[in-house]
Amino acid sequence: MKAEEAAAAIEWLVEMGADEIIGSEPVNRLLAVPAPKPPEPARNAAPAIARPSAIVSDYGNAPTSPGSSDAAAIAARCASLAEIEQALMRFDACALKKTATNLCFADGNPEAQVMLIGEAPGRDEDIQGKPFVGRSGQLLDRMLAAIGLSRHGQAPEDSVYISNVIFWRPPGNRTPTDQETLMCLPFLRRAIEIKRPRLLVCLGATPAQRLIGRSDGILKLRGRWFDFTSGQDSIPLLATLHPAYLLRQPAQKRLAWRDFLSLKQKLKADAH
Ligand code: URA
Repeated sequence: MKAEEAAAAIEWLVEMGADEIIGSEPVNRLLAVPAPKPPEPARNAAPAIARPSAIVSDYGNAPTSPGSSDAAAIAARCASLAEIEQALMRFDACALKKTATNLCFADGNPEAQVMLIGEAPGRDEDIQGKPFVGRSGQLLDRMLAAIGLSRHGQAPEDSVYISNVIFWRPPGNRTPTDQETLMCLPFLRRAIEIKRPRLLVCLGATPAQRLIGRSDGILKLRGRWFDFTSGQDSIPLLATLHPAYLLRQPAQKRLAWRDFLSLKQKLKADAH
């Protein structure tokens, strides 16, 4: 392609709404998808790489490729938050990893009593490899500070731990597919099981619906406490509005404020 043709092609893409480059090589998405490689034999007990065909559905389906490793089995073998992060670094089955810059697993104090769960990393999170570091994250930090909590806090009672349902940025912030979500969920569930937070807070519809198992909209779920079962634990879970939604709809901040006061009260009431 000549330089002026390339420039015209880029100009056309910009006019069509493209605002960033997500890979260094062009991808022709009109070509037939090559057949997947056969599964590699399982190695030792260390967390291995899952093949997409072996994913256990969150809705109870059996693995389609019995005997090969899968996301749920890899997550189950992790014994610490650090091991989950390492396993995710080796995990190649989720297509989102191919276009993401960094894995974005968690931030904050792993000993915190409160664990917050968002939806998926955005552009800033992808660059820094940490959840909620962009504009939504800055709003979230201010909301937390207003009730005496911080991701940088040292004591478990005044700090938070933050993660997401999805660990790699969906290109252009598109909605992750069910398959992508179901590949990440076993790792999130295992992280909750290992961390054993006293309270869980879901930011937005995606984490709330996935963890509570309901399809109601966030405006119906928010402000309510649910019980989340994790191993032997029953963890109180609060659903609230996502900070990105609050940036678009500032009038709704009063609802989020009510939810954060409820969180503060619950922390105080059940203090031990
Ligand atoms: N929105 C999310 O849900 N998670 C992030 O980490 C950033 C923005």
